[in-house]
Amino acid sequence: MINKKNLKLGTARSAIRELFEYGKKQKALLGEDKVFDFSLGNPSTPAPKEVDLAIREIIASGNSVLTHGYTSAQGSLETRTAIANAIKQKFNTEASADDIYITCGAAAALCTVFGALAEGFDTEFIAIAPYFPEYKVFVNGQGAKLQVVSADTKDFQIDFNALEGLINKNTAGVIINSPNNPSGTVYSKKTLETLAEILTRKSKEVGHTIYIISDEPYRELVYSDTIVPFVPTIYKNTIVCYSYSKSLSLPGERIGYVYVPAFCENANEVYAAIAGAGRAMGYVCAPSLLQQVIAKCIDVKPNLEEYKVNRNLLVDALTSYGYECASPDGAFYLFVKAPNGDGNAFAELAKTKNVLIVPGESFGCKEFVRISYCVDTKTVKGALPLFKELIEEC
Ligand code: PLP
Repeated sequence: MINKKNLKLGTARSAIRELFEYGKKQKALLGEDKVFDFSLGNPSTPAPKEVDLAIREIIASGNSVLTHGYTSAQGSLETRTAIANAIKQKFNTEASADDIYITCGAAAALCTVFGALAEGFDTEFIAIAPYFPEYKVFVNGQGAKLQVVSADTKDFQIDFNALEGLINKNTAGVIINSPNNPSGTVYSKKTLETLAEILTRKSKEVGHTIYIISDEPYRELVYSDTIVPFVPTIYKNTIVCYSYSKSLSLPGERIGYVYVPAFCENANEVYAAIAGAGRAMGYVCAPSLLQQVIAKCIDVKPNLEEYKVNRNLLVDALTSYGYECASPDGAFYLFVKAPNGDGNAFAELAKTKNVLIVPGESFGCKEFVRISYCVDTKTVKGALPLFKELIEEC
C-alpha cells in the first residue's frame, strides 16, 4: 500500500523546486554564466566568519558526545537560554529557556505548531496572500485545512474585511510572515494592531484563542530604517517560528526555533503539544553541532551588503523599464507584476531567455512573478538587459 497524498507530494515538486532543478540542468548544458537563476531563496552571501570559527572551535574541543550526541528534545539548555536572553534584550519582553523549542529550521517549527494546534479535520489555519506555498503542505500534513485571504496588491498589507470573513469556530490560527516572502513587505505596527484587535474580538466570539503564528525567517533582513515590530508585544497570543537559514546563511544546516511566550494563553499546554508534535514526527532533536554554533553566534548580524546592491539595481532598472513591483523593505525577493498580466505566461517567456523567475500563482497572486535576488550581483547585472527585452516583447 502506498499513501496517495504523500506519493503526489513527492512526485510533483513545488514550482520553485522544479525551476531550481531545471536551472541546474540548463547551467550544466549551457554554462553557469548563461543562466540567470532567480528561483530559490538560497542565500548567496556566505555564512559569517564567526559561524565558521565556532564550528572549528566546537570540533576542536574533542568532546564528541557534546558535539554530535543527542540533546534534550526541546534543545540544549545553554542554547535555549542564549536565545531567550537575546529575545529579552532585543525586544524588551519576557522570555525564558522554557519558552524555546529548538527545531530543524522554520519548516519544522511551523509543522510542530500546526501539529500542536490542529484538533481534527475541521481545524483551519488562515494564510494571507501572497504566502509561502509550503504552508498548505505543512497544514494539510497535520490533517488541517488552509484558508487564504486574497492579497491586497496595492500595498501588500492585510485585507481585514476578507480576513474577518474567513474566521469561524474552526479557526485555530492566522499565519503571518513579515518581512514577507515573496513581496518583501514589512507589516506596519498599525496593521498588526488592527490584526490584534480583530483576533481578540473574534477569539471571544468563537469561544477559543485564535493564535498568530508569526513565521519570521527574514526578521533581520531589512534594508531601510523600517522597523519590524515584534508581534508578541502587540498580540500576546503569538507563537513565533524563527530560522537561521536566511539570517546566518545556513539553510542546509536546518536550525531554528519556536518561541511560545509564557504570557500567551495556555502557554504550557501549547509548548507541551509542540514537543509532542515534534516527537510524533520523529524530529528527536535539532542538530547538536548547530545548536552550539547558535549559542556562540547569538549576537552575530547578517551581512546584507550584496542583497542591498542587488535590490537597488533591480528596483531602479525594472521600474525604469516600466515594471511595477511591491516595495521590498525586507527579505530578498522582488514581487513584480507581470507586464502581460499573467505570471505563468511571463515566467515561461522569461525561461526562453534562461531567466528563471517563479510564477506568483503558488503564492496566491496569479498576475505576479517572484525574483529571488539572493544571488551574486553578476547574475543581476547580466539579467537586466533581458528583463528590458522581456517587457518590450509583452
Ligand atoms: N517560511 C518562509 C516564509 C520561507 O520563505 C521559508 C524558506 O524559504 C521557510 C519558512 C522555511 O525556512 P527553513 O529553511 O528555516 O525551514
